[in-house]
Amino acid sequence: MLVDTLCSVAFYCQRCGQIEITDVPLFTGHGRQVLTCSHCGAEKAAIRFAPRSGLIVETTCGVCGSLNRFTYPLRKAKALRFEKIYCESDHFELGYIGRWQDIAEFLDFNAAEYDALHPQDAYNFMERQQILLEAFNRLHDFAEEGEILCPCGGHEFTADIAEDAIHLTCTRCGSYAVIPAATAEDLRQLQPGCEIDFLRPDLLRKR
Ligand SMILES: [Zn+2]
Ligand SMILES: [Zn+2]
Ligand SMILES: [Zn+2]
Repeated sequence: MLVDTLCSVAFYCQRCGQIEITDVPLFTGHGRQVLTCSHCGAEKAAIRFAPRSGLIVETTCGVCGSLNRFTYPLRKAKALRFEKIYCESDHFELGYIGRWQDIAEFLDFNAAEYDALHPQDAYNFMERQQILLEAFNRLHDFAEEGEILCPCGGHEFTADIAEDAIHLTCTRCGSYAVIPAATAEDLRQLQPGCEIDFLRPDLLRKR
C-alpha cells in the first residue's frame, strides 16, 4: 500500500463552528481542493500544491474576514505532528495541522480539559467556539439588516471576539456593547430586535 497521506488538517467552520479532521492526500494533482463543512456546506479552506513552495493552505477568518495563506514545504508538512493555525491579523484560532492521531488527541483533550476546569458548564471547548461563531454571525446579519442601532444613531460597528462575548464598537461615537456569547441561553437571547445596551466611553471615564 502506498502511503499517500501528507498530513491532516482540521478547521473550525467559520459559519457553524463544527470541526472535523480531513486527510490531505500527497497527490492531489494540480487542482485546488476545497474543504467544505460536512455540517453546513460552507467552504472552510482550500489547499493546493505549488511545485516550489509545497502545500499551500488558504482560509478566511470568520472574525476579521482576512484571507490567510500558509505555506508548508512538503518535507515539513510530512514531519508535522501538531501545529495550531491562527489568523495572522487577529490571532483567532482557525484550526490545526499535523497527524490525524495528534489532532484527534488534542481535540479530545481540549474537550476533557475544558470540562475539568469548568465542571459547572455543560458545554466544552468546541461548543464554546461554535457558540461564539454563531453569535458573531448573527450579530453580523443584524448589523447588515440595520437592526442594531447605537444611541448616537450610528449603525456601523466593529466586532471583536473575546473569550466568552462579542464586543461591538460604534464606529461613529465609540460607544460599545458587550454581548455575552458563552451559553446556548445567550444564543436564545440573540434574536432580531433584541435589546443591545451601548455604553459611552466618556461616561465610563467619569466613574
Ligand atoms: Zn459549517
Ligand atoms: Zn482574523
Ligand atoms: Zn454611536
